[in-house]
Amino acid sequence: MESDLVERLHGVYRDLHAHPELSFQEQRTAGIAAAWLRECGYDVIEQIGTTGVAGVLRNGDGPTVLLRADMDALPVPEATGLDYASRTDGVMHACGHDMHVTCLLGAAATLAATRGDWSGTVTVVCQPAEETAQGAAAMVADGLFDRIPRPDVVLGQHVAPIPAGVIGLRSGPAFAATDSLRVTLYGSGGHGSRPETTVDPVVMAAATVLRLQGIVSREVSGNDMAVVTVGALTAGTKYNIIPDEAELLLSVRTYDPAVRTKVLAAIERVVRAEAQASGAATQPRIEAVESAPAVVNDVAAVDRTRAALAGVVGAERVIDPGPVTGSEDVGVLADAAGAPLVFWLLGGADPSAFAGAADPAAMARIVAELPSNHSPRYAPVEQPTISVGVAALAAAARHWLGA
Ligand code: ZN
Ligand code: ZN
Repeated sequence: MESDLVERLHGVYRDLHAHPELSFQEQRTAGIAAAWLRECGYDVIEQIGTTGVAGVLRNGDGPTVLLRADMDALPVPEATGLDYASRTDGVMHACGHDMHVTCLLGAAATLAATRGDWSGTVTVVCQPAEETAQGAAAMVADGLFDRIPRPDVVLGQHVAPIPAGVIGLRSGPAFAATDSLRVTLYGSGGHGSRPETTVDPVVMAAATVLRLQGIVSREVSGNDMAVVTVGALTAGTKYNIIPDEAELLLSVRTYDPAVRTKVLAAIERVVRAEAQASGAATQPRIEAVESAPAVVNDVAAVDRTRAALAGVVGAERVIDPGPVTGSEDVGVLADAAGAPLVFWLLGGADPSAFAGAADPAAMARIVAELPSNHSPRYAPVEQPTISVGVAALAAAARHWLGA
């Protein structure tokens, strides 16, 4: 990569990192991406599904490739101590989506600058609101694939705390399906000194949280993957008041649609049964707030792309990271386009942290100790992460485009 492009990308990355924007509020980020793509010669469409940006570079006959990045940040107060840390209180690029945008813009520039070497169409998509699993669906609902050519493949990457210079690529189910549920338990409040006159939603919530733990351990086969986490439990205001309601926020992860259906049904059964056991007069409310299907990488498309990624980092540095329990809505784009998906992990951890890690188990132990995505201390190293991320996207795209 040319050194002035690397220099510019470092500037873009630090600027995006310092100015994180929450889901569906990525106006500034989208503006930067749109301006960059126009300068590279792309036809640019803005405000798709709120802040989404699509760029199209037509370069003769041949296949169409879609490269995707997400743009949103998280409501996390940054604690990295970086000199380019967030300037917005309580908001941080804690999932590395600033890295995704930076690498996508670098790849878009690289492909535009080398257009004499390939033929076909490159489309790039900067999507909003990955963190709420709504952004890809919003762009599709706003007619994304009526406005840009339908791709023959969807390519993308997510930065992760594996060593920078390593790429994690997996065929088949790669990221879990996610379901976020809000459960409202209705009791009947009163004075804390007279619980016999109430139906206590705090006790109901506590019993429900514990009983939910039995779903994965007692109802899901040991051969299947599922996670049920109660991430928030809210009830009450004061020592001596029994409140009327309690609220639980749940995150559910699965790979297999049948397991997903089973787990969601079990959650509903447990919630309703615990309310009944408490003598609640009103049925609890269970709302599905966010949902994204599992990311399933197309086996043939992964095989085809692997050679391109190996050409960037070396075959021994393209590893199988195993299935990830994290989730991603990139699969929504591939499904809507009817195209195969290849989505990989981009190493972002300081390689020196892994010195002496001789085998995968040692590497996994170090990964477990490093700040991970969503941590207030998550800070990918700029290099070689940016250069590898740009080269990986550009090489994978070139591999699918015509000669
Ligand atoms: Zn995230
Ligand atoms: Zn993310």
